[in-house]
Amino acid sequence: MTKIGVLGLQGAFREHIRSVEASGAEGIIVKRVEQLDDLDGLIIPGGESTTMRRLIDKYNFLEPLREFGKQGKPIFGTCAGMILLASEIAGTDNVHLGLMDIKVERNAFGRQRESFETDLDIKGVAEGYNAVFIRAPYILEVGPEVDVLATHQDKIVLAQQGHLLACAFHPELTDDHRLTAHFVEMVEESRKSLAS
Ligand code: GLN
Repeated sequence: MTKIGVLGLQGAFREHIRSVEASGAEGIIVKRVEQLDDLDGLIIPGGESTTMRRLIDKYNFLEPLREFGKQGKPIFGTCAGMILLASEIAGTDNVHLGLMDIKVERNAFGRQRESFETDLDIKGVAEGYNAVFIRAPYILEVGPEVDVLATHQDKIVLAQQGHLLACAFHPELTDDHRLTAHFVEMVEESRKSLAS
């Protein structure tokens, strides 16, 4: 069975496990670096990116996570996880994993809209997808290899670059598992091609 880890240092990781399992893969909470070796793909959940980074450093995850992505293993960053994947964060020189060619802005929808739900059309994946945004970032700029999969109010909220997927919202908080299922498919494809 395809094994998908969910980084379990902080944030909404348990709900992701439920969504991964509903999509037909095995979900594993990842708390130690050694667990990465055994995985076909990884989800970095929402939470607080600065807190998650502190814990990534504390448990020596930074280089192993970069290595995981560079091997071509799929990573799905959601909300704070998207910020961790980005190569650039607006207003700061800080970069965390820097794996994906996107520039993001934190808390970008503004205080008056701390959280909201909306229906998104996701290119090639789903129409009328119920997306939950919580103090959400969005993507300001994408590199040439990045495919924009969804926007909300003209802001990019979901993008894919080969084996990397990033969204500004929380796909694990509803019973609509179509986006997680898309990631599971990406992982199954990569598993086949990495094995051959
Ligand atoms: N605002 C958070 C951050 O900057 C992200 C919010 C979330 O993951 N729900 O890390």
